[in-house]
Amino acid sequence: MNALQLAETLAACHDLEASQLLWLLEHRDPDVSEYLRKEAQAAAQARYGNKVFIRGLIEFTNYCKNDCYYCGIRKSNRQAQRYRLDREDILACCDLGYDLGFRTFVLQGGENPWFTDQRLTEIVRAIKEAHPDCALTLSVGERSRESYRRLKEAGADRYLLRHETATDSHYQKLHPPELQLSHRMECLSNLKELGYQVGAGFMVGSPYQTLEDLVRDLRFLKEFKPHMVGIGPFLSQHDTPFRDFPNGSGELTLFLLSVIRLLLPETLLPATTALGTLLPNGREAGILHGANVVMPNLSPEEARGKYLLYDNKLSTGAEAAESLELLRENLRKIGYEIPVARGDSLIAPDR
Ligand code: SAH
Repeated sequence: MNALQLAETLAACHDLEASQLLWLLEHRDPDVSEYLRKEAQAAAQARYGNKVFIRGLIEFTNYCKNDCYYCGIRKSNRQAQRYRLDREDILACCDLGYDLGFRTFVLQGGENPWFTDQRLTEIVRAIKEAHPDCALTLSVGERSRESYRRLKEAGADRYLLRHETATDSHYQKLHPPELQLSHRMECLSNLKELGYQVGAGFMVGSPYQTLEDLVRDLRFLKEFKPHMVGIGPFLSQHDTPFRDFPNGSGELTLFLLSVIRLLLPETLLPATTALGTLLPNGREAGILHGANVVMPNLSPEEARGKYLLYDNKLSTGAEAAESLELLRENLRKIGYEIPVARGDSLIAPDR
């Protein structure tokens, strides 16, 4: 096999078998990477034009009942200063975001039982009532099918739940025994069946990850066909069990963004905060490798310093929603604009 030929096949057919993907990952070099980058950027532009969609990210609580080994807001981290925003705080973030031009809000948080279905559906209803022209995305982890159903009925449009890794044994190395890949996958298929636009994804370079694991992630994505795919480098957090593991590779993350864009040309692909934290101009690099979404931080100032999933997490400068003009300017320099729009996926919801 020849890596450049495989890259050409991927660009033409939007598919490769597992063994071919593995070969491509093992034999990536600057020529292959640049070829895929160009093809991925062109594939995104052919479908979404020179537009980058923005989502206002509201990190509304860092209380979490889970203990994921990689995550800075895991329950065993006694150093984390816990907080939760109430409905009024969240609505104020949305109002501010709306004025800035956001038409999608993402409520992300730890798995916090305080946010019962009752409380969360009230928040969802209030946001949709205040901003009926906006899309609302939830990213609050694993819940029952009934809970997902209620939230959908209350008005939630989209749900982000990264699968984290599609390899069972690897999943178990990243999470305590009470968290199971099979349950994560069940949640993802429930979300899809309920008609959400769904985001899956994984960290690049998480501890113990092999290229074979990444190939399983890519094959899973190709088959599951999420409306959005969130990937970013693993970044270590100094108060977690994974404190001594190295950060994931920026080069491999960018390579995978291009591969994912070509496998799923119509998906929404964010250039994530983690990528922006790892690489200077990481978000722009992500866009040039086929990404078409950025998620600036709309959380209130006090919350930003506390939602620390990993060390050095960016929340200021072009990463902050208030600095939208700076982001706009940075993207304009590479030929992109930010529309005032919901920015729905071209992939239709399941129902
Ligand atoms: N509780 C929600 C939101 C989790 S935080 C949920 O379970 O979906 C959002 C994402 O941040 C996670 O899915 C994970 O992939 C990523 N993340 C967490 N810790 C990280 C770290 N140390 N480095 C990079 N990404 C991390």
